Amino acid sequence: MLLITLTASAGDLREFEAVEPHMGTLFRIKLYAADEQHAAAAFRTAFDRVRELDASLSDYKADSELNRIVVTAVGHPAGVSEDLFHVLATSQKLAEETGGAFDVTLGPVIRLWREARKNNRLPDKLALEEAGKRCGYRKLHLDKANRSVTLDQAGMQLDLGGIAKGYAADMALGTLKRLGIHRALIAASGDLAFGDPPPGQCGWKIGVDSAILELRNAAVSTSGDSEQRLDAGGKLYSHIIDPISRMGLTSRITVTIVSPNGALSDGIATAVSVLGAQPGMEIVERMDAVAALIVATEAGMRNRTESTRFSRLTRNCVPDPHKR
Ligand code: ADP
Ligand code: MG
Repeated sequence: MLLITLTASAGDLREFEAVEPHMGTLFRIKLYAADEQHAAAAFRTAFDRVRELDASLSDYKADSELNRIVVTAVGHPAGVSEDLFHVLATSQKLAEETGGAFDVTLGPVIRLWREARKNNRLPDKLALEEAGKRCGYRKLHLDKANRSVTLDQAGMQLDLGGIAKGYAADMALGTLKRLGIHRALIAASGDLAFGDPPPGQCGWKIGVDSAILELRNAAVSTSGDSEQRLDAGGKLYSHIIDPISRMGLTSRITVTIVSPNGALSDGIATAVSVLGAQPGMEIVERMDAVAALIVATEAGMRNRTESTRFSRLTRNCVPDPHKR
């Protein structure tokens, strides 16, 4: 399903927009191209790349590469695709940097919570405990030279729901670039990736909380404002899981991360949601080229904090001496 709309013209480039459902959400692409034919071909190639990634990275699809390695990589290395290796390597780096707050081996626990949301009741305590024994990012090993993965035990499940959309947005943008389309943006619900800005502009404008950012060659992800919550006895449990308690987050926190790429922004936003405003912000301040806006509500009090880099982002967008 591809619906192309011409939305604006600027010089000899025109803005086109298309939307397709992928990865359980809608992927929206905006791009500048000379004509509709070029735009249509570019949309097709970019969306096909996202579909290919979903087939490999999805934990919903029984025959995805991700679901196959939890069988084939137990106890000995299994070779994986470049995409899967890259996403797992970024995930493991984030796990290290966030003290395990970001953990793609939470699959067994996440599945119980998914079931719980469907049945509208909390997961069983003993089941959570048992599932927890099959989790832990230190049980996942990567070998870069052989591009392989090894898992320490059987019954593990991997879940890339906190990073795959951001990575897919990066890859879709990269696909467009290779086709000569540099001025584009990809939006997959809360995960956005921006290429070069629209002609004559400093960046793509995006509203975050009350701030307006103008971004180019960067990515923004927001975690925490999702509809995916379980309401149990008036308490709301998020689909983001705290790996220590194995419980869905009950804190009211919305985290927006700006970084050089979508995989990072996506993963960091999820991790900072788990860590909470203050510890999360400390980690963000230590990271290179990462900015955060955190809005946390506690006992009815709304607390909004910006990282140093985020404050700079809202102040000015310095124009690039751009080609055209
Ligand atoms: P959204 O999907 O709404 O953009 P996130 O990017 O925060 O939200 O991703 C949430 C998803 O990440 C969950 O649905 C689950 O698949 C996965 N997940 C949940 N908790 C964690 C965690 N602590 N570390 C890594 N992934 C997680
Ligand atoms: Mg995320």
